[in-house]
Formats: sequence, C-alpha cells, structure tokens
Amino acid sequence: MPAYLCTACGIQHPISDEPPPVCILCQDERRAIPREEQRWTSQHSLRHTHFNAFRRLAPGLMGIATMPVFALGQRALLVRTPAGNVLWDCPSFLDDATIVIISALGGVAAIAASCPPSYGAAVEWSHALGSPPVYVHAADRKFVTRSDPVVTYWEDEAATILPELTLLRCGGQYPGATLLHWAGGAAGEGALLCGASLRIARDGHVRFMRSYDNHVPLDPLSIRHIQAVLEPWAYEAIYGGWWDQVITNDGQKVMFASVERTIDSLTNPPIS
Ligand SMILES: [Zn+2]
Repeated sequence: MPAYLCTACGIQHPISDEPPPVCILCQDERRAIPREEQRWTSQHSLRHTHFNAFRRLAPGLMGIATMPVFALGQRALLVRTPAGNVLWDCPSFLDDATIVIISALGGVAAIAASCPPSYGAAVEWSHALGSPPVYVHAADRKFVTRSDPVVTYWEDEAATILPELTLLRCGGQYPGATLLHWAGGAAGEGALLCGASLRIARDGHVRFMRSYDNHVPLDPLSIRHIQAVLEPWAYEAIYGGWWDQVITNDGQKVMFASVERTIDSLTNPPIS
C-alpha cells in the first residue's frame, strides 16, 4: 500500500489502500485549493519520471530539489556540521540514489520543517535514514498528515537541536512557522534559513505574507513579532526555500529594512 502524495502541495499522507478524499493542507485557506480534481501520486510512480538534484550552495550547505519540479518546487537544505547534519525542509520524493548520497555525506541527525507546505515526505525520509527526529512546532500539529513516532513536537519559542543550530518560532504564515539559525553558516557570520516561512523576492527584499499562494499580506503586529524574534540573532546570509531565494550579504540589515518597508507600505499607502 502506498503513502499517497498530494500532487498540488507534495505532502505525504498515511499509508492507505485508497487515496485520501481530500488533502488537509490544500483545504486550508492559506493554500490554493487545486482547481482541477484533487490528484495523488506515490513514490513508486515518481521513480519512473523524477530524481533528486544536489547542488553545493556554500561550505557545509547542500541544496536538494526534485527534478523535474514536483508540487511547489521547493529546495531543501542539508546543513552539515561537525555535530551532525540537519535536513531543513523535506522533499516529497525519495529514491535509493538519494539515500546513498545523503548517507555518504554523513547521514541526517535531525529533520526540521519551516512550515506545513515543507513537510514533504519527512516521515518516509526519516525511516530511510535511521529514524532521526522530525521536528515540528506543536502549534502546527493539526497539519501533520502522517503521524509517526519520529515526529517530535517542540514548544516554546526556540529550540537548539544541535550545536550551532537553533529553531526559532516566528509564526505569521502559520502559528508554528519556524526559521533555522545556523551560527556556523556564512563562514561563521551566521545564516538564517527561512524555508517557506518567509520568501525572498526578486528585488532582494524579504516578503511577509499570511498566504503566499493567495497573496494575503501579513499584519504589521505579526511582522513586528518576527522582527523581535530575530533581533538577538546575527546572520549574514538568508536562504529561502527555492533555488533563487538567497541573500548572501548583510542578511540582518536586509531583513530589518524589509520589515520597515513592508510595514510602511501597509500603514502609509501612497496617495495619488
Ligand atoms: Zn495538498
């Protein structure tokens, strides 16, 4: 029996004889409900047409994305540290070649997800890689479509999962939306991994939305909260959840400039 994957968002559901009637995540108002009929696939089917591509983005940082693009097309990150590797966000697709490559890179000590659209097939990845914990903030528990003992719910506002690697609950898009601060990233200047919780636009600024799919902006109070969460943390680089969403320099300055710019546009709309 397969564990079905939603073709719209890529999230994996429990092992079942028949596809689920609906995708819980795609039914949420933040997501774009598929206009066409809800469709499902499986790892077995995708193995005929897809593979995972790896690209080294920086020392200690590997990007992983499924090709051709599947579902939302995110790029996961494998953060490699002396204390172990963390898979940040999880692709939906997994094959034997991926397991061989990741094992050769040192395996995975923990999997953590930025927000529900990035859970992918995290339980299946964990099972294939020695059952490391899959960290999900407890506030987003209802979006976990595939329950399993490896899913580890964390609470509070921050959690250090390995030396140099700290989960920060930023909220906003989802109540448990999370960022990962990597103190050793960017040659020791620090890196902030946003996954799909925040987005980096083509203009090089950070975007703060309640629904990126449906273009619903986040309210100023929630944006100020994100700013407060990030205030104590230093970072030079910011990595979003897609290949082209990277800020390599002055990350903290860019983040705070983006906060001010966004709040200014929300509270002082131009008068023509
Ligand atoms: Zn879905």
